[in-house]
Amino acid sequence: MSLLPSKLLSLRPPNPIPGLPYPSAEFPYTRRQTPPRVLCAKRTGKQRYPSEKKKIRLKRKEVLADVETRNKFDGFWRLSKLAVPLHKDPGKDFLGVSDGLLEAIAKVLEFPVASMLPAEAFSVIRKSFDARKVLKEPKFVYIVDMDVDKLISLEPRTWDFISRLEPKVGLVEHLPQGKVSGDLISIIKDCKRNSGNAVSRDGEPEISSVSKGSVTYKTSTKPRIAVVGSGPSGLFASLVLAEFGANVTLIERGQPVEQRGRDIGALIVRRILQMESNFCFGEGGAGTWSDGKLVTRIGRNSDSVLAVLKTLVHFGGPKGILVNGKPHLGTDRLIPLLQNFRQHLQELGVTIEFGKRVDDLLIEDGHAVGVRVSDSRDSSQSNSQKREYDAVVLAVGHSARDIYEMLLSHNVTLVPKDFAFVRDFSFNVMSYMAEQVGLRIEHPQQVINSIQYSSLASEVRSGRGKIPVADYKLVKYVREEDGNVSTGTSRSCYSFCMCPGGQVVLTSTNPSEICLNGMSFSRRSSKWANAALVVTVSAKDFESLNFHGLLAGVEFQRELERRAAIMGGGNFVVPVQTVTDFLDSKLSVTSMPTSSYRLGVKAAPLHELFPIHITEALQRSISMFDEELPGFISKDGLLHGVETRTSSPIQISRGNDTYESSSLKGLYPIGEGAGYAGGIVSAAVDGMYAGFAVANAFELCHGGIESVFGKTQSAGIVKY
Ligand SMILES: Cc1cc2nc3c(=O)[nH]c(=O)nc-3n(C[C@H](O)[C@H](O)[C@H](O)COP(=O)(O)OP(=O)(O)OC[C@H]3O[C@@H](n4cnc5c(N)ncnc54)[C@H](O)[C@@H]3O)c2cc1C
Repeated sequence: MSLLPSKLLSLRPPNPIPGLPYPSAEFPYTRRQTPPRVLCAKRTGKQRYPSEKKKIRLKRKEVLADVETRNKFDGFWRLSKLAVPLHKDPGKDFLGVSDGLLEAIAKVLEFPVASMLPAEAFSVIRKSFDARKVLKEPKFVYIVDMDVDKLISLEPRTWDFISRLEPKVGLVEHLPQGKVSGDLISIIKDCKRNSGNAVSRDGEPEISSVSKGSVTYKTSTKPRIAVVGSGPSGLFASLVLAEFGANVTLIERGQPVEQRGRDIGALIVRRILQMESNFCFGEGGAGTWSDGKLVTRIGRNSDSVLAVLKTLVHFGGPKGILVNGKPHLGTDRLIPLLQNFRQHLQELGVTIEFGKRVDDLLIEDGHAVGVRVSDSRDSSQSNSQKREYDAVVLAVGHSARDIYEMLLSHNVTLVPKDFAFVRDFSFNVMSYMAEQVGLRIEHPQQVINSIQYSSLASEVRSGRGKIPVADYKLVKYVREEDGNVSTGTSRSCYSFCMCPGGQVVLTSTNPSEICLNGMSFSRRSSKWANAALVVTVSAKDFESLNFHGLLAGVEFQRELERRAAIMGGGNFVVPVQTVTDFLDSKLSVTSMPTSSYRLGVKAAPLHELFPIHITEALQRSISMFDEELPGFISKDGLLHGVETRTSSPIQISRGNDTYESSSLKGLYPIGEGAGYAGGIVSAAVDGMYAGFAVANAFELCHGGIESVFGKTQSAGIVKY
């Protein structure tokens, strides 16, 4: 029996060797060495602006025209939105090609017998779970790449079906050309091989140029670069620079993960807060004891994000993070990954100094020429040392408030967040950045599972089941009612950093302040679900508490953190209030739901913690969230105060392409603390871009990162 329509059978030449590909002279599909490049517009599923719709229409035309001129048998085809009903899928942990998936693929190809499709010809690029209530049946949704060469060699009868395959934007896309692939280490190796003259054969830079003040001179020694901070941005900047042959010193005020783990243990068990080694400071940065969510809004499929994720896999992250629609690592996986990262940097010759805090910059002729460093345990800075470097990469995160003050004392240009203007990639618009404050809400995970999955909730089985532990993401806008539509302040209210199966943790860096965040382990098996609920704030809010000037946002955060500590009564006890009480602005004396927070909670009037407009915005947004997730307002929902360090309150101005401070040469402010990232992945991407920019400035590489990934995409304001 032939599977081919008779009309096409007559068009097809005989295959001289059944089971092997057709000769390429007549049917010229060639095996490409390089993996494919996506040529179509990405589908985000979000509402589109008219300008975006126009762009997509144009792109569609382009793609169709392109495919007409190309051979359909070249390279790969990407098949998106392939739906496999839950009962036909092996479940969330299976990332291969199941029979159910072959059925979905066969449907797209119009190939009549799914079981005859060879699974080896397909690779899963993305797998997500979709349990929206509007669906008749929950399903897994896949993106799959089809290797045409392999497919036809394994099942020649698919040939005609490929010949009839037509591209559809966002659903069926032809990927004939090479695309950057691989982790950062292999990408840089390729770069070095291709550029030749900047780097000698043994990988040592032959010559580099150094600018001091207005003078640029050549040096035969490796440029000495200080990277301050070992969070994702500092680690990735160090990796790029060291791979390109720079002499890198990574300076970190906190401790390596082994000691940091003990310090965090002492905090949780014995209430001892090490001010320099805690949930914010130490190896891996703020995200080490976290949920390790690797979701990002800067383009999940972009080459730069993929390079970061592949680098994490290189250092021991599970391969599933490349495929999972909502990848996350969990603290237990982050720790060994960071140990491998450290070992690789050391093998490259990076000097890593833990427990050393940068207190000041050395500046000569308007040029940063080094740093002043002291032992972190020495708060008096009496034994500080001067160190000279050719450049200083500042990757200190948003909790290094002392650094903002130091920069201000040197007149480095800082811009308060709500005056900074950046590109928001999720909406493809330019928008103002804004600081956010709010509370951390916690529900029993079972409540969130039931809200999201209804009767399927029992399938979660504390992270061991077929479907993922349920999460949520909520966004609303509220306009303050001051009677005048044009003057009333509009605030975004949203949930973020949702930690399913996680726990609430203390991220204070000072015992007189309380601020919170969330973390979880890879299995997400705890019985609680927590998330930040925040609203945007602006200079008007800071002024209402009498905070003015460039660092008003920092003072505002600090004030709320102090109030929270006082409401909790000290000793790191956290003030809490049920959602229902918060909405009614009252404190009832009934019993409270339990909390995952380990250092104790105390019922408190959180509705009195913020300026009234902020409380009202939070109250209104919670009511709106409940419309979207009925049951969100529940007697089991417990609000914890306070969530303040969601992002940096300021931005340190820098050149778009150079990454160099716009007011101080030789200083490269990067990552979240500098206001250019909002999460692990975007911070890592920013560090990677900055690493290339610095390497380019010292002529360690040619063309900078644009020669690898195309036009620079700054991480910007985007949150994870
Ligand atoms: C508990 C928690 C959970 C989180 N969960 C997630 C999540 O699941 N997913 C996600 O995407 N993001 C998460 N985040 C946010 C994420 O961690 C940050 O966005 C990211 O780490 C920012 O990276 P960075 O390199 O810019 O700065 P950081 O990670 O903050 O790193 C800065 C480093 O600089 C060091 N440093 C500061 N000052 C000095 C100095 N003067 N001298 C020397 N060293 C200094 C600090 O000790 C720190 O290690 C979480 C954050 C926290 C606190």
